[in-house]
Amino acid sequence: MPAERDRIRSHRRGATRPAVTTRADRPRSLILTSLLATVLLGLCGGTLYGNLRATRAADAHRTSLAVDSLFAQARDAVTLEESHLRRYRVEPADPVRVAFVRAAGAVNAALEQAGRRGDPKALRAARRLLTEQRAYREAGDRLIDGSARTDPAGDGPYRTLQSDVDAVSRTYGGAAADQADRLFQTQRRTVFGTVVGFTIGMTLVAMIWRLVLGYQRRLLANVAASQRLALHDFLTGLPNRALFGRRLQDVVDAARADPSRRLALMVLDLNGFKAVNDTLGHQAGDQLLEVAGQRLRDAVRDVDMVARLGGDEFAVVLPDVDNVGQVRLIAERINEVLRSDFQVAAGPAAVSASIGVVTGPTDAGADDLIRHADTAMYRAKARGGGVAYYDARTDREVPDRMSLFGELRALLDAGDPWVELGLYYQPQVRLSDGTVSSVEALVRWHHPGRGLLMPDEFLPLAEARGLEIRLTYHLLDAAVEQAAAWYLGGSPRVVAVNVSPRCLVDDDFVARVIAAIDGAGLPPRLLRLEISENGMMNDSQRALAALHEIHDQGVQLSIDDYGTGFSSLEQLKRIPADELKIDRSFVRDIVTDAGDQVLVRSTVAVAHAVGLLAVAEGVEDLAALTVLADLGCDFAQGYATSPAVAAADVPAACRQAEQRARRSAAA
Ligand code: C2E
Ligand code: CA
Ligand code: CA
Repeated sequence: MPAERDRIRSHRRGATRPAVTTRADRPRSLILTSLLATVLLGLCGGTLYGNLRATRAADAHRTSLAVDSLFAQARDAVTLEESHLRRYRVEPADPVRVAFVRAAGAVNAALEQAGRRGDPKALRAARRLLTEQRAYREAGDRLIDGSARTDPAGDGPYRTLQSDVDAVSRTYGGAAADQADRLFQTQRRTVFGTVVGFTIGMTLVAMIWRLVLGYQRRLLANVAASQRLALHDFLTGLPNRALFGRRLQDVVDAARADPSRRLALMVLDLNGFKAVNDTLGHQAGDQLLEVAGQRLRDAVRDVDMVARLGGDEFAVVLPDVDNVGQVRLIAERINEVLRSDFQVAAGPAAVSASIGVVTGPTDAGADDLIRHADTAMYRAKARGGGVAYYDARTDREVPDRMSLFGELRALLDAGDPWVELGLYYQPQVRLSDGTVSSVEALVRWHHPGRGLLMPDEFLPLAEARGLEIRLTYHLLDAAVEQAAAWYLGGSPRVVAVNVSPRCLVDDDFVARVIAAIDGAGLPPRLLRLEISENGMMNDSQRALAALHEIHDQGVQLSIDDYGTGFSSLEQLKRIPADELKIDRSFVRDIVTDAGDQVLVRSTVAVAHAVGLLAVAEGVEDLAALTVLADLGCDFAQGYATSPAVAAADVPAACRQAEQRARRSAAA
């Protein structure tokens, strides 16, 4: 059994965990995007800067090259100038002189241009060389016109010029090579920076992409999870009523399209589930529902759909069945698995199922199928559980439960203006002297269309769908008013009112009871609240506190249907009750069944031991009254003395009950 629960737990984890986008993702994506922007900006700036530097370096390089070539030209022209001068000395002809002058002009032109193109340093060098050239030229001119006999080549001016122009030219040659080197370095750095920046950028893009894809994936998972939540029951993970309705409609449509297809629908309700909730608590009830859901799923085929319609109500859609035998087999299996004991944290729990089955093909729509299965289910429930198959002939008479529930709710909403809900009162006789001092109020519904309805026909509906608290309060007010009327009329009677167990944990319960007696002016001792054994044993501290509070006000309390629950003597002692009503199933055969006599005797002993009066209910014949008196019972109630009657007939019914009781005692 623990394995059964573990499986369910793991299934619930899977079913309900929604994929959430983490908050940490958001700052991460922000950081990544800012990083990417920074890197891109850096890349842009770096590339621009690199290009600028490269352009500048290229310019400088070009200038250096030009200056270098101009100084080289000047140096070559100086050499030419000198060679012409040397030749003139050997061959003093005009053309040689002209060539010398042209070469000197070329030196000037090259140096002037180098001064203009180059940087200030080049300008200074050019000016110095021009001065030296001028000196050399003057020496040459002097040689040519014969005013000087010395050879200027052998002299200082030429050597100075020659070596200076050489040095300058070499310097600028080196500078140009340096510039070229620098240009190359700059270009290499720019390319390297660009590649690194690009790589980082691409990595960031990939990271952002991954993040975005992650978002997207989680978003899709979220959508899927919320879709699942909307269509599934949180507790059991089974499809809910909405999904069930869709699936059934699909199956009905498919069956209509293909008349050879057979389908079946089962609606089931757990018997005794309320008792589990009331005695073991809601948590135990939830655990039982989970396990029941799992067992149902295991009991059907893969193609079948099990859904939880709400509360302890489930449905199974069988879309494709071979024959009725197969449906029967599955229904019986479901019946079996739900009957075997449930092990919940609070202890063992037992329920059974009422299963209504309808099979197709049928002209009926999905709604009709549900109604038919529902009707069959109620027939099964009326029989005490098991499987019932819808039969159009027998089930036609059964009132439609859903609409009956709707009518009851509307009636309570309107405050029951025509008093359709009426209370009947059944006298309770004291066995020692045959007197009647109290009556039990029992509800009847005078339904305008359906006639007189007994509690069994509508109370289970109210209890299954959460209307029983309002109904109880409504009837409590009516009973208290009637009790007050008898009291004020001079014939006080204790009126016993049946209270639905769930009222005990309702916040308004104590206040409603006190308001009812205060409002009607009824002494509290004339009201007795009957709560079933199962409801009383609800261990909730709240329920116990409510009972104590009411009892302290003077209101009497009675434990109803005793023997049908599982209360211990220990629990019994804790309840502030005044009387204990032995369930009619132990009383029915009391005259003939020795076993029941033993049970009743011991129950009476238990009641007396904890200070309670013992009441036998469902006493149908007068002989039983004598037996019960012998067994030590204090009170008796049943058809033997009087059925429940309308308020107006109560005085007569009480007189009749007293007469019968006395007659039986005398006999
Ligand atoms: P209960 O509290 O055990 O009420 C006694 C039931 O036994 C009544 O059925 C009564 O008519 C029936 N009864 C009385 N004498 C005999 C007898 O000699 N033999 C047999 N076989 N039955 C007898 P009823 O009125 O149909 O009520 C059924 C149940 O409905 C009640 O069982 C009670 O649990 C619930 N109920 C009735 N009236 C109210 C009400 O006003 N409020 C609430 N919350 N529940 C009510
Ligand atoms: Ca009762
Ligand atoms: Ca009872």
